[in-house]
Amino acid sequence: MIKRFLQKVFTKRTKAHLAIEQADASDTSAAKKIPAKVHNINKSLISQAALKTCDGLQKEGFEAFIVGGAVRDLLLNFEPKDFDVATNATPEEVNRIFRRSRIIGKRFRLVHVLWGNETIEVSTFRGHHLAEGDAKTADSGRILRDNIFGSLEEDAARRDFTANALYYNPAKDEVLDFHNGVADVNAKLLRMIGNPTTRYQEDPVRMLRAVRLSAKLGMKIAPETQAPIAKLVDLLQDVPASRLFDEMLKLFLSGHAVESVNALRAQHLHHGLLPMLDVVLEQPLGERFVMLALKNTDDRILAGKSSNPSFLFATLLWHEVLAAWQTYKNEAPPIPALYMAMNEVIASQAEKLAIHNRYTATMKEIWAMQPRFEQRAGKRPFSLLTHPRYRAGYDFLLLRCESGELPMELGEWWTAFANAEGEARTAMLQADSNPKKRRKRNRKKVDASKSEPNT
Ligand code: ATP
Ligand code: MG
Repeated sequence: MIKRFLQKVFTKRTKAHLAIEQADASDTSAAKKIPAKVHNINKSLISQAALKTCDGLQKEGFEAFIVGGAVRDLLLNFEPKDFDVATNATPEEVNRIFRRSRIIGKRFRLVHVLWGNETIEVSTFRGHHLAEGDAKTADSGRILRDNIFGSLEEDAARRDFTANALYYNPAKDEVLDFHNGVADVNAKLLRMIGNPTTRYQEDPVRMLRAVRLSAKLGMKIAPETQAPIAKLVDLLQDVPASRLFDEMLKLFLSGHAVESVNALRAQHLHHGLLPMLDVVLEQPLGERFVMLALKNTDDRILAGKSSNPSFLFATLLWHEVLAAWQTYKNEAPPIPALYMAMNEVIASQAEKLAIHNRYTATMKEIWAMQPRFEQRAGKRPFSLLTHPRYRAGYDFLLLRCESGELPMELGEWWTAFANAEGEARTAMLQADSNPKKRRKRNRKKVDASKSEPNT
C-alpha cells in the first residue's frame, strides 16, 4: 500500500521533472563557466568514444557532458581510465539514439554505449533530495531517491566531492562548475559538497572514497571534510557487502594501495573495510606480508601490468588461514586441516564481504599449493611446476619468504629449480631427497605455518 503510494508520488515527480527538463535547457546560472584558456584541458586525452557519445546526444537536442572523475583527471592532466557522460535524455531515449547500447541496472538505470571495445556509461541527471525523515526512512528511500531524475544543478549537488562535480561540454570546450571544484582541484583539495556529516550518513562509502581518492590523486582532504570521519567510522558496518567489496577492489587496485591502507589505518577506517584485516595488520608478520603484497600489486599496476584480485585477496587473508590451520591441525592431518581452515576463513569473510565465487576458487588453489612448495623430493616438484596456477603460487611463496615467514632459501630453490634444465634439475632433487634429512623432517613434523623449512 505504502509502496504503491510512494511509487505514484515518485512517478508523478519524475514525469513532472522531465517535462520541465526537456522543455528548457538546464538552468546553468548557478554555475561558473570555465573557458578553455582557463581550464587548459588537453583534448587529446579524451576518448573518441566519449566525444561521439556527447555529440550523438547533442545532435538529438539533448544536453550531454563528460562528468565526474574523468573531468577531474583531465584538469590534473592525467589520462582518465573511464569516461562517464551525464545527460537530460532518459535511459530509453539514450538507448534509442545509440544502436549499440543497453540499459543496465535495476536500482540505478544507466545506459552503456559501446564503441569498439570501449564502453561509455551514460546516466540521466539525477536529483537526490528526500524530505527530511529519520534515518530508516532515508535508508529505505535511498533506492527510490537515487533513481529520481533531476536537473543538472541537482545532479551536481548529489555528487560527493567538488572535484567530482564538474561538467565538461566538448562542443563548447567549457567546464560548468557549480561548487567551486576547479579551484579545489587546482589547490589539490578534496572537499565534500554540502554538510560532510550528512553526506557520510547518507552513504558511508564516501569516507573510503575520500581516503582512496586523496591517496590516488595526491589531494589533501579538506579539514571540514576530514573532521567528522573519526566519529562516523562505525557507519561502515551497515554498508552492504557487495558495495564494500567493489570499493575495496578499487582501492587495492588503484596503484596506490599502500598509501591508501596507511591512510585508512591512520583514521581507523580499516576496521570496517575487511573483517579481520585489522587483526592481521596488528601482527608484525601479518602486517609485513600484507604490506609487501600491496606494494607488489602497486608496482605491477604502475608498470601497466594486470593484477589478479584473487591473488591479492589470497594474500590479505593468508595469515587468517595460517592461524585457523594451526588450530585444525590438532584435529586433522595437515592437508585436510588446511582445507578446513581455508573454508572457514572464506565463510567468515563471506558474511561481511562478498568475495565472488570466481575469486575464491583461485584463492583456494593458491593456498592449497603452499605446502607442496615444501616438498622438494621425488616427482612432486615436477608436478607442481605444471600446475595451471604455478606462477601465482610461486609469487605467493616468494612473498611468504620476503615477509620472513619462510626462509629466503626456499624461494631461491624454487627459482633455481624452475630455471634449471634436465640433469641439473634432477640433481637439485637428489640433493634434497637425502634420506637422513627426510627422516629428520618426518620426525620433527615440520609445521608449514611456522618458519621451519624442509631443508
Ligand atoms: P575513479 O577515478 O577512481 O573512477 P571516480 O570519482 O570517477 O573515481 P566513480 O566510482 O567512477 O569514481 O564515480 C563516478 C562519479 O560518480 C564520481 O566522480 C562522483 O561524481 C559520483 N559518485 C560516485 N560515487 C559516489 C558516491 N558514493 N556519492 C556521491 N557521488 C558519487
Ligand atoms: Mg570513474
